[in-house]
Amino acid sequence: MSAGRPARVRQQDATVLARKVLELERKLTFENKAVAGGLDAFLRNLMKSEGVPASLRDAVSSLPPGGYGSLSAAARARWISGALGAAGTPARRSAPTTPRVVRPDVPTGIEAPVTVLRGVKEGLAARFENLGVRTVRDLVYLFPRRYNDFANLRPVADLKAGEDATVRVRVWDAHEGQLGRIKGTEADVGDESGMMRVVWFRQPWLAKQLKTNADIVLSGKVSIYKGRPTLENPEWELWETGEELTHTGRLVPVYPGTAGLTGRTLRRTTRQALELYAGLLVDPLPEELRGRLDLMDVQQAVRQAHYPDDQDSIARARRRLALDEMLPLQISVLQRRAAWRKPGSADGIAIEQDVLDSFLATLPYKLTNAQHKALGQLRDDLAQDMPMSRLLQGDVGSGKTVVAACGLLAAVVSGHQGAMMAPTEILAEQHYRTLCALFGADTTDGPVAEATPQYLDRPLHIALLTGSLRASHKSQLYERIESGEIDIAVGTHALIQKGVSFDNLGFAIVDEQHRFGVMQRAELRSKAGRAAHMLVMTATPIPRSLYLTLYGDLDVSVIDEMPPGRKPIETKWWPPEHRQDAYEFLRAQVRTGRQAFVVCPLVEESETLQSKAAVQEYESLSTEVFPELRLDLVHGRMNAKEKDAAMQRFRAGEADILVSTAVVEVGIDVPNASVMLIEGADRFGLAQLHQFRGRVGRGAEQSYCLLLSESPSMEAQQRLRLMESTTDGFKLAEADLNMRGPGEFFGTRQSGLPDFRIASLLDTRLIELARSEAARILEDDPGLAKPEHAALAREAARLFELVTGEVH
Ligand code: ADP
Ligand code: MG
Repeated sequence: MSAGRPARVRQQDATVLARKVLELERKLTFENKAVAGGLDAFLRNLMKSEGVPASLRDAVSSLPPGGYGSLSAAARARWISGALGAAGTPARRSAPTTPRVVRPDVPTGIEAPVTVLRGVKEGLAARFENLGVRTVRDLVYLFPRRYNDFANLRPVADLKAGEDATVRVRVWDAHEGQLGRIKGTEADVGDESGMMRVVWFRQPWLAKQLKTNADIVLSGKVSIYKGRPTLENPEWELWETGEELTHTGRLVPVYPGTAGLTGRTLRRTTRQALELYAGLLVDPLPEELRGRLDLMDVQQAVRQAHYPDDQDSIARARRRLALDEMLPLQISVLQRRAAWRKPGSADGIAIEQDVLDSFLATLPYKLTNAQHKALGQLRDDLAQDMPMSRLLQGDVGSGKTVVAACGLLAAVVSGHQGAMMAPTEILAEQHYRTLCALFGADTTDGPVAEATPQYLDRPLHIALLTGSLRASHKSQLYERIESGEIDIAVGTHALIQKGVSFDNLGFAIVDEQHRFGVMQRAELRSKAGRAAHMLVMTATPIPRSLYLTLYGDLDVSVIDEMPPGRKPIETKWWPPEHRQDAYEFLRAQVRTGRQAFVVCPLVEESETLQSKAAVQEYESLSTEVFPELRLDLVHGRMNAKEKDAAMQRFRAGEADILVSTAVVEVGIDVPNASVMLIEGADRFGLAQLHQFRGRVGRGAEQSYCLLLSESPSMEAQQRLRLMESTTDGFKLAEADLNMRGPGEFFGTRQSGLPDFRIASLLDTRLIELARSEAARILEDDPGLAKPEHAALAREAARLFELVTGEVH
């Protein structure tokens, strides 16, 4: 708090608060529930405050060593009466001596509904509810969006047009007036330096409140009207000597708006809530941590977050409160990690160097340095008897599959099974084929292939398990997986169905993680009798701040280098007037024997609408634009079989152009497709455009990405230019995240991401701080059993449940 604040205020604060608490305790029939954690902790704190009257101090010291909590109900009632007297309230004459039953469903203290506040009736409460505010605590945690800096009062004569200013003036005359066609209030005001005009549109009733000769403070943007300085719709407040200004004259909080709640009302109520209830907040952060990191305590932080002394206090308060949100999340993330990392709970699966070398020698290329590094990390982890949880991140085409294959080989060599799960049938099949090719197996004989590589002393069996497999085949396959005959099982969700059980699963891979939830990851793992090592592969570049949060329980390997000889995809945004040129460009490419994808604009409303739009696009392209070419179509309303069939036809070269909605699966490999045309490109996020673009550029030919957009906004044009200028997925993801926020970034709101009030998922430094502090706390107190960690433990458990759906 500011050094200049008079002690009188603080004295009042402490005593008023004590009185409130004591009264509440009486109301709650002396059950020691008026404050979270019990009255004794509150009283101990109270004794540390300045300005507590001696009589009240005496009352507190009269308690037995066990404190208020150790008293009988009758003794509590007597003590409260006495203490209330000492705090300046006449004790109620007929204080009940035996506890009454209170309705347990009426929350009290800071959890009380906002209607306990003065001037908050049902109507207002409903509007607060629109802001997610139900209880006083919610209100205390409803932080300003920004602050108007009204700290410096200015003489009227110095005001200049266009500046934000605050003035202290006297009202000469205020009257209801017709402002153009709108009713409002007009006022002439002035100070010793000059006169000015003030108008409030749509607020004719203000005229009555602005009494002639009243002193008021006004804040707003200055304009000059008929040569006179003017303020339109300024914030205003009566100036009463000695009283702190709530609405003007300092850093004024500006809250998120909602219909029917004025800034004035919000400030009046937050002010009141803070005065009466902030003192009840129990600090969730241990004192040691606060001291070491030089953090404000929670009560000071919430006060400063609303009514800051200066800009620096805003930053400090918000940082502290952001840590309150981020620290429990990181604790829960690390707990999730620790839950897996039990030494001895998994089999180490090691692979000898010469076996690995002979496998690598069969490849038509050498691993890139980045692949080598990722492989090294993978091998080190797999060799441990503690289950690995690793995220393998690499842009589309960076060569994640072969690294994963090395891990599968390690599993097989060490006598275990391996599994690889993909989000769609076509991707699963693609992986199956790729793995068969890598290990030299022939895929012609259906869902099981056999290889006899020279680096293995026995044959290797690879199986493909998908939902479309016939039931009889499926049950056969189940048996072969269960008996251990199948070494590597590739599949879709079908892999985690009930009937599937492995003989000895040692290593499981999940591809394209963002399509699976944390739960499915856990399910695949649970298919192993003992814990399996787990590798999650993703082509979505996830900025560090976000994976520390979303995938924070995983270690991360990044393949940040493309195999040599790749030609970067050329991306070009074609303005609307050049649409025909883009089509001609595509036609010319197809004439040289290439194939093209056309992605239809995103229709947010529904998949049905989006599919309809795709059908229309397909029809107009086939009849009007490319009547001489062969077009095919996939969209979300087709079933999996139809979709797969269309994509197979395209892969087999039976169509020149594949028109699709955004559902066309990432990762599909059609080397001959070298043109990607994206309609309505401005509607997609950068990360998503980059994913689309990654579907071409898989062959030796130069590939192109054409972006079309009817009327992109300035911001959209900026994004499209960024697409043209870089092929760095991380750069694009970072920009995307900054421009659109994490919810949008993932296309839909990703479950498992808590809604933060203050902390930002983009604040890497904060997240890293929370991470290291979480590690420190857990090292010192793995079970979070210490009393100073109780609040953190509770919040971490809540988040753990939110993210995993499990109760920790
Ligand atoms: P992704 O990371 O997108 O899954 P893939 O594993 O499918 O990438 O690899 C993309 C293509 O690059 C494949 O055709 C693969 O054979 C090839 N590839 C992988 N590693 C290398 C390398 N080091 N040198 C050359 N080509 C490679
Ligand atoms: Mg891939």
